[in-house]
Amino acid sequence: MKLLTAQPEDRIPFRLSDRPYDDHWQGYVLGEDATHRYLWIWMGSNIRVICVPTGETGGYDHAWCYPRDPAAVEAAVEKWDPETQDEPTGWHKRPTSPRRAPRRDEEPEYNRPRCEHGCYIADGCRTLNCRNAR
Ligand SMILES: [Zn+2]
Repeated sequence: MKLLTAQPEDRIPFRLSDRPYDDHWQGYVLGEDATHRYLWIWMGSNIRVICVPTGETGGYDHAWCYPRDPAAVEAAVEKWDPETQDEPTGWHKRPTSPRRAPRRDEEPEYNRPRCEHGCYIADGCRTLNCRNAR
């Protein structure tokens, strides 16, 4: 995903990122496509990436939790193609249901099943006692 860059007129209270700031969500807008806006928000103990349906203000369809490292989060989302790839990489928790990309059949290797911590189930999980890993 091509990331957005904040403009000089954007009002950003505590600049943690070069992305445009969204006052409603109190987070940074990473990018957008035909159906969703993609933002990251500071959540206390982690950063949450959210997929908000265009025009929606009440909720989001999908989200992933990352360690509190804005640069790492933005790099992961920048590498991600929401059209063909179900989910970005590098997260450790998914507070929503899994996402399915519209053209996911084009990247079957990337879109293999993941455990609840974001690891490919076939590769095993780094988390002890993961209930999804074999
Ligand atoms: Zn796991």
